[in-house]
Amino acid sequence: MGTRTCYASGRRTRILGTVRLQPSRRSVARGKVLVSGLTPWHVGTLIDAVPLNPKARSITFEVPDWRGNLAGQHLDVRLTAPDGYQAVRSYSIASSGPGTRVELAIDKLPDGEVSPFLVDGLEIGDSVELRGPLGGWFVWTEELHVPIQLIAGGSGVVPFIAMARRHKLTGSTIPMHLLYSLRGPNDAFYREELALLNEDVDVTWHYTRVAPQGWGAEPRRLTHSDLKAALLPPEGDTRVYICGPTEFVETVAEALGDLGYPSESIRTERFGGT
Ligand SMILES: Cc1cc2nc3c(=O)[nH]c(=O)nc-3n(C[C@H](O)[C@H](O)[C@H](O)COP(=O)(O)OP(=O)(O)OC[C@H]3O[C@@H](n4cnc5c(N)ncnc54)[C@H](O)[C@@H]3O)c2cc1C
Repeated sequence: MGTRTCYASGRRTRILGTVRLQPSRRSVARGKVLVSGLTPWHVGTLIDAVPLNPKARSITFEVPDWRGNLAGQHLDVRLTAPDGYQAVRSYSIASSGPGTRVELAIDKLPDGEVSPFLVDGLEIGDSVELRGPLGGWFVWTEELHVPIQLIAGGSGVVPFIAMARRHKLTGSTIPMHLLYSLRGPNDAFYREELALLNEDVDVTWHYTRVAPQGWGAEPRRLTHSDLKAALLPPEGDTRVYICGPTEFVETVAEALGDLGYPSESIRTERFGGT
């Protein structure tokens, strides 16, 4: 197979993976591949990459024809291997607003097909194809005048980073609270930034497997009483967003029903896996 190339900013740019993505171990039919639709594919060139923790990093693309996005939206990344095999995965967008820069934050799944490449393989100057922004339901804008409760499991925090940044940028005075559940302190995304945002967005950290020294609580999965203690109450039209692995989202959403949050006040986004 020949190498597909494109030209951006006058320099030769590889469309990802054309060079380094290995042909899949799976059949093409298994994945979300070659999805057709009205939303066009854009070429994004990697301009910045920052480690977030030992197995995750943020990656920022310059996308010349990007028209901006709302906080909470996601996009699809398409990688093409030398043999023409393509793999498509969805990623939340950590940035929002107008502009041509798009930031993602990727957690590396050791046995994954795409995420190890995005975390370890993609280099500054490489290009991938991006399609989006996608999704108009799991979004927050400053025009929404109700208290906001965000609940993240693991990398599910990414759309909430976009919302929290937007909250700060717009000087919103609407209460916004984040409950961030993660396995251990080494799994945190954007820890320093969340600490700085804490004046605008109240953050409660929760650990399920390993707690930091002196944390004062045993690591455990979120219980009804943890949720009750940490969350904004359902009264006052609180809008709740839950994002993370499928099992996490479903368990938390069910618990919120038990705690009196009306189902129409809850918006969920599932990342797959368990
Ligand atoms: C709307 C949306 C937004 C997303 N945003 C992000 C994001 O911001 N950051 C991010 O890192 N990921 C995000 N994801 C997950 C992402 O799309 C991929 O599923 C993930 O990167 C794994 O892809 P992979 O090719 O490496 O693994 P695959 O080869 O697809 O899967 C490898 C193994 O991991 C399991 N698995 C797949 N996805 C997950 C998961 N999310 N958690 C646990 N196990 C899983 C599979 O069942 C399989 O056993 C999002 C998913 C959706 C639907």
